Amino acid sequence: MSAPGVVSHFDAVVVGAGFAGLTMLFRLREIGLSVRVIERGSGVGGTWFWNRYPGARVDVPSMHYSLAIDPNLEQDWNWPETFSAQADLERYANHIADRFHLRSDIQFDTTLIAATYDEDRNRWWVGTDGGDTIECKYLISAAGCLSATNVPDFAGLESFGGSWYHTSRWPREGVDLTGKVVGIVGTGSTGIQAVPVLAEQVKHLYVFQRTANFSVPSKNKKMDPDFQRDWKTHYDDHRKVARLTSSGLSWPEPPTVSALEVSVEERNRVYEDAWINSSYTPLGLLRGFSDIATNLEANETCAEFVRNKIRQIVKDQQVAELLCPKDHPIGTKRICVDDGYYETFNRPNVTLVDVRGDPIAEVVPTGLRTTATQYDLDVLVFATGFDAMTGPLLAMNIVGRDGLTLRDKWNAGPVTYLGLQTVGFPNLFMITGPGSPSVLANMTTCIEQHVEWVRDAIEHMEHGGLVTMEPDAEAEDRWVHHVNEVADFTLFKQADSWYLGANIPGKPRVFMPYVGGFGNYRAKCDQVVEENYAGFSFT
Ligand code: NAP
Repeated sequence: MSAPGVVSHFDAVVVGAGFAGLTMLFRLREIGLSVRVIERGSGVGGTWFWNRYPGARVDVPSMHYSLAIDPNLEQDWNWPETFSAQADLERYANHIADRFHLRSDIQFDTTLIAATYDEDRNRWWVGTDGGDTIECKYLISAAGCLSATNVPDFAGLESFGGSWYHTSRWPREGVDLTGKVVGIVGTGSTGIQAVPVLAEQVKHLYVFQRTANFSVPSKNKKMDPDFQRDWKTHYDDHRKVARLTSSGLSWPEPPTVSALEVSVEERNRVYEDAWINSSYTPLGLLRGFSDIATNLEANETCAEFVRNKIRQIVKDQQVAELLCPKDHPIGTKRICVDDGYYETFNRPNVTLVDVRGDPIAEVVPTGLRTTATQYDLDVLVFATGFDAMTGPLLAMNIVGRDGLTLRDKWNAGPVTYLGLQTVGFPNLFMITGPGSPSVLANMTTCIEQHVEWVRDAIEHMEHGGLVTMEPDAEAEDRWVHHVNEVADFTLFKQADSWYLGANIPGKPRVFMPYVGGFGNYRAKCDQVVEENYAGFSFT
């Protein structure tokens, strides 16, 4: 391949200026690399820049959901609430960018539209929508797992006379919904967070639900200053624990007792305790016993506990039954976390519409039509999720050695070694890529582990005068086999989830994240390094 008209040269191009991209830039500067970060948005924060829909909030406790890049940062920064809101998370990302003077290396409002590997020069050529070409040795995707928006292909959408928004592209200036009749499609984590807040603003809210989801109360509250002070005193210890646990949280591992080994009273006491007390994370409900993720009968005890909560909260029992998930084991889709979701259906201005029984037929100029009914709407909100994990990577049109496109290589689903690299694409690294724990553990811990691993690998190359790094096909095959083997041991594949790509029509059904636990995964990555990067080849 001949070199296109070169505009600039960097050691590394990082895609995305969310928590992963900012951390990667920080760490690559430490080893003296020149770096250009390409960011589609006009600001930093990634997920927390884009997802500014009403009610957006993280489901991991604030003290855990922070970066370890600098000991002074974690001491200086104060979180106002136990589960941080989008605005505070975006403020945190901005603080990091300013504090460490990162902005000078970030090119905003720019999308990477092509990346091609030049085998003659052992360099990547990166093209942007602004017409820039950048040559670099290392290409690192920090584009996130949930950043490629999924807007369903509803017939007639272009004819809609009102306004419509996808939750992950919510306008920065907000939307005044006072007095409006609003329809929201989607009841995943996003919809479940947005519904209670929207209900308070609008004249009437129609919630179009295709699949009911399990949700637990966040019990978000103002941060207790004494708790925060104490946590900061022991931050190092907390981080040491988080680096070893299966969840990536400073949190005790689940007990070894089965849900089926204890009495009904004891089981319900454990679930009730987790429901009421969410001091660690609302996901505690799934961790009361050892086998909720692996044994259907044990899982059902937990699922039925939540269904009974829904039946108690929602006054109209027909609505309550519709809200009770019955098609998948609890936890096999990302469990949702809410602030008053089920209670919202007791409001007179909220209507649940079952679009499983009465599917959406089309969008019409005045609203939305299901097969049986027409709903007149001023505003349509799509909380319809993402083309998860592979979507952001495939959108970059990456071409590796021998003209192999990533799209072709992953035609039957993503294949990687450790979720970090894929054969045929030298010096392409993925932060929290498919095949790593990523979305199944605390994202900040996962990001930092990957960023540090990639930084060390690059440092290893630079010190050794090495030109390329790429996995061996055999190591990649073994890892893909292992990722599947571990997923098969769980109930995860029983749900039509985005973990499996089931939410995107035509996407291969492959379980993408690594479910074997963050601690185990980290140990494997460390072992690979100790064994002189076993399974990777360098030139
Ligand atoms: P999601 O979990 O994929 O949910 C999308 C929703 O849209 C589902 O209810 C889906 O129904 C519905 N939907 C999609 N296409 C539809 C169609 N054509 N007709 C009718 N309904 C349709 O997406 P999400 O809620 O944005 O959440 C994605 C992930 O982001 C979460 O799992 C979580 O990891 C993360 N997230 C985290 C937080 C947090 O930290 N608190 C908040 C928001 C999101 P079906 O289920 O029937 O497909």
